[in-house]
Amino acid sequence: MSQNQLKDLSRLCVHTITTKPWCIEEAALNYATNGIKGITVWRDALAGRNIRQTGQMLRDHDLSIVSLCRGGFFPNSDPAKRKLALDDNHRAINEAADLGTKLIVLVCGSDPSQSLEDSRRQIQDGIAALIPEASAAGVKLAIEPLHPMYADSRSAINTLAQANDMTEALNSQWVGVAVDVYHLWWDPNLEKEIARCGRNDALLAFHVCDWKTPTSDFLNDRGLMGEGCIPIPKIRSWVEAAGFNGFIEVEIFSNDYWKEDQTLFLQKIIKAFKKCV
Ligand code: ZN
Repeated sequence: MSQNQLKDLSRLCVHTITTKPWCIEEAALNYATNGIKGITVWRDALAGRNIRQTGQMLRDHDLSIVSLCRGGFFPNSDPAKRKLALDDNHRAINEAADLGTKLIVLVCGSDPSQSLEDSRRQIQDGIAALIPEASAAGVKLAIEPLHPMYADSRSAINTLAQANDMTEALNSQWVGVAVDVYHLWWDPNLEKEIARCGRNDALLAFHVCDWKTPTSDFLNDRGLMGEGCIPIPKIRSWVEAAGFNGFIEVEIFSNDYWKEDQTLFLQKIIKAFKKCV
């Protein structure tokens, strides 16, 4: 591979969920072989493994471990279940520290049996309770706003403004936001809110994929960059104008792509990253 191609890929991170059919060892080998420098790890990919050794395996492939995905799911009308969720988030912080990553992405959760306001309050309380441990472990927490279609059960945080409000209320260097184009591209306030989290040094992660028309599944029919209607280069320019210069994470949940030969799919990702991001 030429130096130029390597340079082009220096900010590309692939999320293990994108190549779900591969176990983490296969993903690491294939990403590294193709010149990819960053990996985000889905917690399920660590099942049954020694997490410290897995972190070392990734570093041996010269991969930066960009984030662990995911913590969150704080709200529940049942306090006992909220406690279980907090316990799970404590485990996620320990896993992130063992793996050797400095960031956990939070899919914050929502409980359809209560109001969105109650869910948001419980999210904020949950994150606040994690800050001491996150700080001790040196792991930051990124609130990822999700598209409003997920407001019933996956996240009561649906705009970047809401994530920024909560980050500012929590007022901790250990809490920030993740900007995912799939969830936020439609928002007329996006440019303004990206600038706002940049001013607070709170822009911690940038995720890309595309929105297909028609989309057949609101969770698992995400497109490859360039296949849909999201103005990815424009949003990238806002994110970079806000001071973000970290990895750009390709996160594609797709039943169709998971059926493909993953080696060929990875080639498509690299091509799309160079051309459409
Ligand atoms: Zn994301």
